[in-house]
Amino acid sequence: PQPTPLRPTLTGSFSTPAGGNPTGAMVEAAYAHHGVLARFVNCDVPPEQLEAAVRGAVAMGWIGFNLSLPHKQAVIPLLDGLAPSATLIGAVNCVVAGADGLVGHNTDGAGFVAALREMREPRGRHVVVFGAGGAARAICVELALAGVASLRIVNRRTERAEEIARIVRENTATDATAREWTGPYTVDTDADVVVNATSVGLAPDSSARVNVVAASLQSGMLVCDVIPNPPDTPFLREARERGTETLDGRAMLVNQAAINIGLWTGLAPDREVMHAALDAAIADWRH
Ligand code: NDP
Repeated sequence: PQPTPLRPTLTGSFSTPAGGNPTGAMVEAAYAHHGVLARFVNCDVPPEQLEAAVRGAVAMGWIGFNLSLPHKQAVIPLLDGLAPSATLIGAVNCVVAGADGLVGHNTDGAGFVAALREMREPRGRHVVVFGAGGAARAICVELALAGVASLRIVNRRTERAEEIARIVRENTATDATAREWTGPYTVDTDADVVVNATSVGLAPDSSARVNVVAASLQSGMLVCDVIPNPPDTPFLREARERGTETLDGRAMLVNQAAINIGLWTGLAPDREVMHAALDAAIADWRH
């Protein structure tokens, strides 16, 4: 049925804890700006209720929903299909409910690559990624699918970096290698793009710095961080002092939400409107 002002189309998110999730603010700002008769409901769903929540969304005719911690892998058995990159990443943050049933996508890495493209074309680049958790995995897979020449994946637990490197090598043409991280890391001199995809710098521990040799950050590099709150991390400040360009974690968050709206509605939303809504949500979050 067509949505009406009294019966909007429904979308939302399932996670726990859900209180600090700013996605709804961005998505509802985009719906309002474009006059889309839709709502986004941010739901706190414990693991034992995930299946019921998914069935409830289907029963209520939701057109799609996001998954955040801790549901990104647990949702997979509940779905009818997966997009190719979600299969490689092994996690789903966005589900589309359509004629094919429930199809899982992963738009975290795609959001990062979309943000990166505004500053650098990824094809042929040499990239150093710190971290080997869910965010790093999504970013590495999407960078490889976008044609980066090489990925060096730096992580304390090297075996997690090895696993991502193996997935990338087996499925793409990118040369991916894992690197040990036992002390301050000297960034490879040929690196074009350096990404912090660890949780170092995230509030409340916002003074934590990525363990890197600052002098190895060179002025031609683009230095990126996934941390959205606070967005200006010690790592990015250190990089700017070395004369590099930087990209903060808000751009990835805005772009993944914009891609989700596109998958659900076909709309290419105004990302500046979404960015402003994110900034307002982050300001609320801090107080
Ligand atoms: P995970 O828990 O899956 O992974 C955390 C990663 O950080 C691991 O690689 C871990 O290393 C590393 N790490 C944690 N503490 C340290 C430390 N003190 N020193 C070195 N490495 C450390 O988390 P996610 O990958 O899901 O999320 C990572 C960050 O990305 C979060 O802060 C999250 O807010 C952000 N994020 C941002 C998004 C955006 O759109 N901007 C989207 C998704 C996530 P090890 O394996 O050795 O323990």
